[in-house]
Amino acid sequence: MCAALPRASVPDGNSQGPQAVDWVLTNAWVIPCDHLLSTIPQGAVAIDDGNIVAVGAAKDIGRRFQGRREMDLTDHLLLPGLINAHTHAAMTFFRGLGDDLPLNQWLHDVIFPTEARWVRPELVYWGTLLAAVEMLANGITTVCDGYFFEESAARAALDSGIRAVLGQGVLDFPTPDQPDPMRMRDRVAEFLESFPASNGRLRPSLFCHAPYTCRPETLQWVKELCRQRGLLFQTHLSETAGEVKEIQERYGDRPVFFLERLGILDAATLCAHGVWLERTEIECLAKHQVGLAHTAESNMKLASGIAPVPAMLAAGIKIGLGTDGCASNNNLDVFAEMDMVAKLHKVFDKDPVVCSARQVLHMGTLQGARALCWDDAIGSLEVGKQADIIAIDVRRPHLTPLYDPISHLVYAISGSDVRHVWVGGRQILGDGRILTVNVADVMAEVRELAGRMGER
Ligand SMILES: [Zn+2]
Repeated sequence: MCAALPRASVPDGNSQGPQAVDWVLTNAWVIPCDHLLSTIPQGAVAIDDGNIVAVGAAKDIGRRFQGRREMDLTDHLLLPGLINAHTHAAMTFFRGLGDDLPLNQWLHDVIFPTEARWVRPELVYWGTLLAAVEMLANGITTVCDGYFFEESAARAALDSGIRAVLGQGVLDFPTPDQPDPMRMRDRVAEFLESFPASNGRLRPSLFCHAPYTCRPETLQWVKELCRQRGLLFQTHLSETAGEVKEIQERYGDRPVFFLERLGILDAATLCAHGVWLERTEIECLAKHQVGLAHTAESNMKLASGIAPVPAMLAAGIKIGLGTDGCASNNNLDVFAEMDMVAKLHKVFDKDPVVCSARQVLHMGTLQGARALCWDDAIGSLEVGKQADIIAIDVRRPHLTPLYDPISHLVYAISGSDVRHVWVGGRQILGDGRILTVNVADVMAEVRELAGRMGER
C-alpha cells in the first residue's frame, strides 16, 4: 500500500537544500508519453503549484526536490491522464437503453424521444457527474464533451475535479434546451455568458451536431463565433454511409469537401467518427490540420463501420480516442478503447503491424491533446505542463510478468487497475477512491431519476 506522507519540515526553495515542492511521486516506472515514447524504469515526477517541475530518474529528482507530500510508487506505472476526445457525458442516464437496434430505430424510437422528455439541467448535472466519476476512476483526466444544458455539465466537471472541454450542442431542430431552433444564437450566448470560471481547467466549446442536422448557415455562424472566441468547434462527421449519401444528394459534395467549401476546416475543428472517408477526404483533413476523435467501440456497436485509422495516421492527422456516449458503448473506459483500437484495425487490415501499442497509447494521450488543441498544457509528462497524472499498480496476476509497460497499458490493463489520479496537481483518486464527491450519493441521485424514467 502506498501512502501520501506529509513532511514535517521542508526547506524553502531559496535555501541550498532540495527545492520544496507540493508533491514528489517516486520510484515508479514513468511513461511520459512524449514524442519519443521513452520510459524511465526507476523514475519520479515533481509537482508544484499544479505543474510538472521535473521528470526523471528517482535518484536525481530525490536530490533536487523535497515534496511536502511524497508518494513511493514502487511497482506502479506513472503516466499522463488519458484523454476522452469525444463523449456525451450525461448520456450515462441512457446506459443499456435500447441496445442491439438499427441506428435509425435506436435514434428515432429510443434516444431522441427520451431526450426530448427527460433532458433537463438536473439530469445533465447528475449524468455528467456520474460520467466524470467513472472516467476519473478509469484514469481519464480530460474529457471533450458535447450535449445540451452544457453549463450544467460544466458545474459537474467543476465539482468532480476533471478537466473538460464542454461543447454546447447546436442543431436546426428543437432541442431540450432550445425548443425554437430559430433562437439557437440566444441559447449559445446564454451558455457562453454563464460558463463558470475554473482557472483554465474548463474550456467552453460549441458543438454542431452534424452536417446533416445543421444547415450550412448554422455551421458557418457557429464556426465564426468559435474563431472570434478562440473555441474548439466540434461536429460529428461521416459516421454512416447513409449520411454521406444524404449530404452528397443535398449539396453535391462528400461531407469533408462540403465542410471545406463552407470554411469550417482548420486546426481548431474536431470531428468525431470519420468512418466513411475517401483517400482525398483524408488528404483534405490532413491539409487543414483538422483533429479527429476515433470512436471504435461506438462505431462497432451501432454497426456504422470501421474508420480508416491506419491511412489517417499515415497522412499525419491528429487522432484522439473517444468513447462516445454511454448509450452506444456502454462504458467510459479509454483503456478498453485502446485495446479495441489496436486489435480492430489489425484484423480489418489483416496486418498485425498496424496500430501498434505505441501509436495507440499516443492516441489516448498526446495525440488526443493535440486533437483538442490543448497539447501545450496536457497529454504528456513534460516540465511546464499541467500535473494530470495517473498511477497504476502492476502487482496483479493479469499484469505479471512485466517486460514492456506500453504493451501492458494497451493490451492488459483496464480502467479498474488505476489507483491514483491527479488533475492539475490535485489528487482526485486515492487508492482507488474518488476524493472530490460522494460517489454513493451521485449513484443514488442517478438511480432515483432513472427510476422515474423507467416508470414511464
Ligand atoms: Zn457522438
